[in-house]
Amino acid sequence: MAQKSYNSYLTAQKQFDDVADKIGLNQSIRELLRQPSREFHFTIPVKMDDGTTKVFNGYRIQHNDARGPAKGGIRFHPQETVDTIRALSMWMTWKCAVVDIPLGGAKGGIICDPRNLSAGEQERLCRGYVRQMAKNMGPTVDVPAPDVMSNGQHMLWMLDEYEIISQGHYPGMITGKPVGMGGSLGRTEATGYGVIYNLREALKVLNIDIAKTTASLQGFGNVAEHAARLYTSLGGKIIAVSCWDNQDKVSRTFRNVNGLDIDKLASIKDSFGTIDKEKAIQMGCELLDGDEWIAQDVDILLPCALENQLTPATFAKVSKQVKIICEGANGPTTPDCDELIKERNIYLIPDFLCNAGGVTCSYFEQVQCNMNYFWPKEEVLEKLDQKMTSAFHAVHNLACEKGLYMRDAAYVIAINRVAEAVKLRGWV
Ligand code: GLU
Repeated sequence: MAQKSYNSYLTAQKQFDDVADKIGLNQSIRELLRQPSREFHFTIPVKMDDGTTKVFNGYRIQHNDARGPAKGGIRFHPQETVDTIRALSMWMTWKCAVVDIPLGGAKGGIICDPRNLSAGEQERLCRGYVRQMAKNMGPTVDVPAPDVMSNGQHMLWMLDEYEIISQGHYPGMITGKPVGMGGSLGRTEATGYGVIYNLREALKVLNIDIAKTTASLQGFGNVAEHAARLYTSLGGKIIAVSCWDNQDKVSRTFRNVNGLDIDKLASIKDSFGTIDKEKAIQMGCELLDGDEWIAQDVDILLPCALENQLTPATFAKVSKQVKIICEGANGPTTPDCDELIKERNIYLIPDFLCNAGGVTCSYFEQVQCNMNYFWPKEEVLEKLDQKMTSAFHAVHNLACEKGLYMRDAAYVIAINRVAEAVKLRGWV
């Protein structure tokens, strides 16, 4: 059977439209919020190490900045599409609103595969991106951050180029910078930890002891690794982790039914989250097909990789034991699969709430940069925990009160906040 293809932008718009109908959102606000306010599409010529010039396509899409400067990562991916970036920019707006930080939503991307670029080529690509966008980004305008396959070093090259162009120091122009260079302690862990703060609270309201739970993860990049570390330190057991192997062009699931040793697994992965299969076998892992992570008999599923992973086709394999789905990735679930999750009564922690820890810590990074005074890690993580915990309970309580699906409850809170800002500014 041919695989159905999904467009994340249509997903983001459908999710929005459904909730806009439910809350009877004013027509002009609806038109304004169901699409991005600004889009930049540009080319980036890069001198390659072999003397040739390669032209890359770059994008920055600003969905909404009514509540503050647009905010969101820049991802590097060979299969990136404009529609995916549009969807991600919308989700950033809802993400910042649901955790109530004074920022809007944006997302950027470069169609490239950094795994095949030298450090020098990556640096020139980052600088080229900023030269195209410098007029339309900055600490009070639009603030990028790392995302899929981009990291602190990329952010610092981008900042440096911006500061050369702007002739001054503007550390609040970008977040996710290396610690000591304007970065915040805890930023690396923040997204994954935020996922688990949400999960911890969900388990409390569901009256489940975390130490008696098992989980399976998709992805082993930054988000998944830190989520796995915190979850296991709280007593949970991870049975399976899946990741992409770029050399063999396959994804694989690494399983140990007695529980994976996350520290060891992290020590044998590369910077893109690919686990070394030979070393994993030596460690006692079973190697299964990439899709098998979803079929494990576990209590919790954590999709922490890319979009459109939970579809009716893949959901058919989900074990009856699964009670909670924590969306560490952005947009991992398609709308037709949401219906199946509802039917099965699985507790869902929706992406823009579940993975909001990263941008929340980015906001703390900006605050610290503005003060030029940096907090200890414990303080950052404590503030992060407070923000995530209170956002989780606000969404959970609304869902219970109004009998809403968790994703819809998160949307109601986020849309109402953004709509209020738009009205107060007199835009509609
Ligand atoms: N890329 C991350 C996200 O999708 C972080 C964004 C940020 O810190 O601005 O939430």
